[in-house]
Amino acid sequence: MTRILDGKATSLSIEEELSKVVQDRLNRGLKRPHLAAVLVGDNPASQAYVGHKVKACSRVGFDSTLVDKPTSISQSELLRVVEELNKNSSIDGFIVQLPLPDHINDQEILEAVLPTKDVDGFHPVNAGKMALDLPCFLPATPMGIMSLIERAGIDTEGKHAVILGRSSIVGTPMALLLRRNNKPGNCTVTVCHSRTENLVEHTSRADILVAAIGRAHFVTADMVKDGAVVIDVGINRIPDESKKSGSRLTGDVDFESVAPKCSWITPVPGGVGPMTIASLMQNTLQACIKKDA
Ligand code: NDP
Repeated sequence: MTRILDGKATSLSIEEELSKVVQDRLNRGLKRPHLAAVLVGDNPASQAYVGHKVKACSRVGFDSTLVDKPTSISQSELLRVVEELNKNSSIDGFIVQLPLPDHINDQEILEAVLPTKDVDGFHPVNAGKMALDLPCFLPATPMGIMSLIERAGIDTEGKHAVILGRSSIVGTPMALLLRRNNKPGNCTVTVCHSRTENLVEHTSRADILVAAIGRAHFVTADMVKDGAVVIDVGINRIPDESKKSGSRLTGDVDFESVAPKCSWITPVPGGVGPMTIASLMQNTLQACIKKDA
């Protein structure tokens, strides 16, 4: 029987837990956690993602600050914005929403963020600590997927996990977390990318298949083993004349054909997306708690 890995419901449980911690902090005279988000330009998807993050802050009782900058901002001006957020002691953590305009050197911006405020877990210090299995901020999407697997009680021990995609924000950290000596974890991991030969040979041996490539309906039933756990990270906009907007969001997995073969599968929307936001909230709380100490 196929079961749905319900990211929406799981994220709401996490938010309830976070709200209680915030209330408890306030009762003890401690400050509200405070997340800032830097949004550059007018990319509608980025505006929507940042909007979701700001709304999540208000649901769990965090303060939030949106720093909105025009596409024309220069590298040095954006570095100054990051510096100000680093120095602002009322802000516990902040994110710089990606992608940034082409003239901006993303890596230089991400490396300017203070690692203790890097709640997206993109700074090389946090990425390196994650690789060494040291305490750090984990990137929100892989962290959310691990929480979803854990809270559903899925046994990953000794399983073969195949990751489609090797990006530094999803595929690579996902592989590191699934192969950790931890629960969940202890998978044997294969990472596939655009140069992988005989892709189907790999995917069809996966007990756990994570699709993070950004191609609508790429994973079809013939690529999936019976009983697999399928995690769909993809967010792709495809035409849909039945919608007022003329389009809708869909994942990297052809849900209709793949779902009947799975033991568990995430929907899109309502799977990994809400878990990513819940994880960002968890990281922000941790950043705030560390500052108390
Ligand atoms: P990237 O574009 O950075 O990486 C895509 C990866 O997929 C690359 O490693 C690429 O290989 C690989 N790839 C592309 N085509 C193929 C192919 N035909 N066969 C095998 N591998 C392929 O994307 P991201 O990791 O940033 O994001 C992936 C998807 O997840 C996107 O749809 C994005 O919108 C979504 N996303 C969703 C989030 C959420 O909260 N739900 C959060 C972040 C991302 P190569 O390295 O060789 O180019």
